[in-house]
Amino acid sequence: MGATGGISEMPRVTESAGAADSEALAALHRVFGYGAFRGEQEAVIEHVVAGGDAVVLMPTGGGKSLCYQIPSLVRPGTGIVVSPLIALMQDQVDALRALGVRAGFMNSTQDFDERRVVEAEFLAGELDLLYLAPERLRLDSTLDLLSRGKIAVFAIDEAHCVSQWGHDFRPDYLALSLLGERWPDVPRIALTATATRATHQEITQRLNMPTARHFVASFDRPNIQYRIVPKADPKKQLLSFLREEHAGDAGIVYCLSRKSVEATAEFLSRNGIEAVPYHAGLDAGTRAAHQSRFLREDGLVVVATIAFGMGIDKPDVRFVAHLDLPKSVEGYYQETGRAGRDGLPSTAWMAYGLNDVIQQRKLIQSGEGDEAFRRRAAAHLDAMLALCETAQCRRGQLLAYFGQDPDPVGCGNCDTCLTPPETWDGTVAAQKVLSTVVRLQRERGQKFGAVQIVDILLGRRTGKVIQFDHDQLSVFGIGEELSEGEWRGVIRQLLAQGLLAVEGEYGTLVLTEASGSVLRREREVPLRKEPKKPVTSRSASGSGAAGSARGERKAKAAVAELPEELVPAFEALRAWRAEQAREQGVPAYVIFHDATLREIVTVWPESVRELGGVGGVGEKKLATYGAGVLQVLGSLREAPGAESESTAAVSEPEGAGSGPGTDGWPERDDWPETDEEPAPDEWA
Ligand code: ADP
Ligand code: ZN
Repeated sequence: MGATGGISEMPRVTESAGAADSEALAALHRVFGYGAFRGEQEAVIEHVVAGGDAVVLMPTGGGKSLCYQIPSLVRPGTGIVVSPLIALMQDQVDALRALGVRAGFMNSTQDFDERRVVEAEFLAGELDLLYLAPERLRLDSTLDLLSRGKIAVFAIDEAHCVSQWGHDFRPDYLALSLLGERWPDVPRIALTATATRATHQEITQRLNMPTARHFVASFDRPNIQYRIVPKADPKKQLLSFLREEHAGDAGIVYCLSRKSVEATAEFLSRNGIEAVPYHAGLDAGTRAAHQSRFLREDGLVVVATIAFGMGIDKPDVRFVAHLDLPKSVEGYYQETGRAGRDGLPSTAWMAYGLNDVIQQRKLIQSGEGDEAFRRRAAAHLDAMLALCETAQCRRGQLLAYFGQDPDPVGCGNCDTCLTPPETWDGTVAAQKVLSTVVRLQRERGQKFGAVQIVDILLGRRTGKVIQFDHDQLSVFGIGEELSEGEWRGVIRQLLAQGLLAVEGEYGTLVLTEASGSVLRREREVPLRKEPKKPVTSRSASGSGAAGSARGERKAKAAVAELPEELVPAFEALRAWRAEQAREQGVPAYVIFHDATLREIVTVWPESVRELGGVGGVGEKKLATYGAGVLQVLGSLREAPGAESESTAAVSEPEGAGSGPGTDGWPERDDWPETDEEPAPDEWA
C-alpha cells in the first residue's frame, strides 16, 4: 500500500526486511492487508515469535493488537488473550473472524454448550486466538483446560490493571503472575497505553516478568489536535464546538459526575445532537445498549464518566471532549487517546476554569486516603494544571511528561501552536489578589472564596460585602482595570502556580509559602492572557480543509482532507458498509475502517487485484467484499456526478453485550458540578 500514495495514517513506518520475520510480514499482508509494520511492532513481534517475554507501552491507537495477534498466528498453538472487558470480546472475535482468523472467547455470557464448542476447538488446535477474562484464569478448570492444549503466547492486555491505582480487576490481574511459573516456555507479552515509569515497573514486577524486554513506542498522536479553552458556559461551548466542527461525528464527552452526564446528554439531545449517557449508576442493560449503539451507529455521541471507554476500540471516534478537569495527565491522555485510532484528523477539546481548580483541590483535601495518597493526587493535579496553563506547545508538554523529547519548534497542531497565547506581566494583579487575601486572613482572621475576593477588587457592594464591612478595606475597588472573568483567570493561574491555595470544604483562598515573595516584590508573575476567540480546527487546518469547508456539512473530519469530488463515493461506500454491517450484526468498522474506504476512493481500484493493494484489505476481506466494493465504484462511474440516494446516514442494528469498566478513579455520585462559573464578559 505504501506505493499507492494514498493515506499516510501512520506516524512511523519501518521498512520490514530480514528472513526471521518474513512469516510475520506475510501474515501482516495476507491477513490484515497492511503494507508495513508500524513503529515498534516489528521488533516486538520478532522478539515474541522467538519466544521472548515483552512489556509493551504504546499509546492508544498505536497498534498493540497486532503485537500479539501475529505471534499467535505464526507460532504453533493458540494465543491466549487476557482482556478485562467481557462485553467487548464478541466484537473483538467478530473482527478477527472477518479477517479469516480462527478466534474464540470464553466468558460468563456463554451457555454451557457454547463454551464446550470453544473448548473442543481449542483442544483440537483449531483456534489461533482465545480471549479470556482474567477471573477465568483463576479457575482450576480453566488452567486445567489450558494445560491440555497447546499455547502459542499469553497476551495480557490493559496490563496497567495490576497497578495499585484502584482497579476493579486488580486482584484477578495479580493472579496472572502464576502463568510464568506454570508455563515457563510460553512467551508472555503485557501491553498497556499507560506510560508512566511507576506503572511500567509495577507491571514488570507484579506480573513477574523480570527478563522481559521492554518496548516503549512514541506516545505522540499527531492526528489528534489538542485544545483547552477557558470555561464560561461549558454546555453551550460544547454545542458550538460540535456544531461547527463535528456535526454528525461519533465522539465521547467526559464529565465528572453522573448528574452532569445526564444533564449534558439531555441538553445535547434537546439541541439536535444524538447523545446517550453512560455511567456506573445506570443499570447494566441501559449501559450495554448505549455502548452497543455507540459501536454500531455512525455518529452517536456518548456523554460519560470515566467508567466509559476502556477496551472500546472503535477506530472512528472523531472527538473527545472534557467538560471537567481530569485528575491526572495520564487519565487525560488515555481518555483523549480514544479519538482517532484510525489515524484520521480528530480533536481533543476541553473546557477548563477556576472552579475546576478549586473543586479538585477541595476533593483532594476532603477525600479519603492517607497523606501519601493525597500528596500523590496533588502532584497529579499540579501536572494537569501545568498542562492547562502552559503557553507552550501542549503536545510538547504531554510528551515531555511521558519522558519523550518534544519537537522544539512545536507541533503545529494544538491551540497554543496555532494561536500562541499572549502573556502579560501579572505581578501587580497578583499582588492585589494576595493583598486582599492577606487583609482578610491576617488582619481579620477571615477566609473567603474567589467570588468575594473578586467582588472586593471590583468594588462591588454586594450583600456579603456589606455584611462583613469589606467595603471598608483599603483594597476595596482597587482592581477595576480588569473584568470579572480576567480576575478569575488571575486567581486560577495563581492557584495553578502554587502562589495561592484552597482550604476547607468551602474552598476558601489562603496564602502559601511562596505568596510572600510576590507580596515582597521579589518575583514576577507572568500570566497567560485569556484568549478572546477560541481556535477551531477550521481556522486551524490547512488549505485542504478550508477547501472542503465550502460545502455545508463537510466539516466532518473523516472527509476533511478528501477532495470534494470524492466525497459522494466515500459516502456511497459508507452506506454500502452500513448495509453489510446490519446484515451481519457487527459494527461497521468490522467490515472496513473509514481509513480504508478513503484510500479506496482515492486509489479507485479497477480490479480485485488492485483493490487488494489497499491498506486494510487482506485476503479474506478481498474474497468477501471485493466484488461488492467494485460494484459500488462501478455504479458511480456509470453515473458521474449523480449522487447515490443511499448516502443518507444509515443506522445500524444493536447487538448484545456490554458492561462497565473503571479506569482509574472511582466514580462518585456526589462530585460537585463545575459548570456554574459566572460567564466572563469577554466570552461572547
Ligand atoms: P491499540 O490497541 O494500540 O489502541 P489497535 O491495535 O487497535 O491499537 O490499532 C489501531 C489501529 O491501527 C487499528 O485500526 C489497526 O487496524 C491499525 N493498525 C495497526 N497496525 C497497523 C499497521 N502496521 N498498518 C496499518 N494499520 C495498522
Ligand atoms: Zn503544539
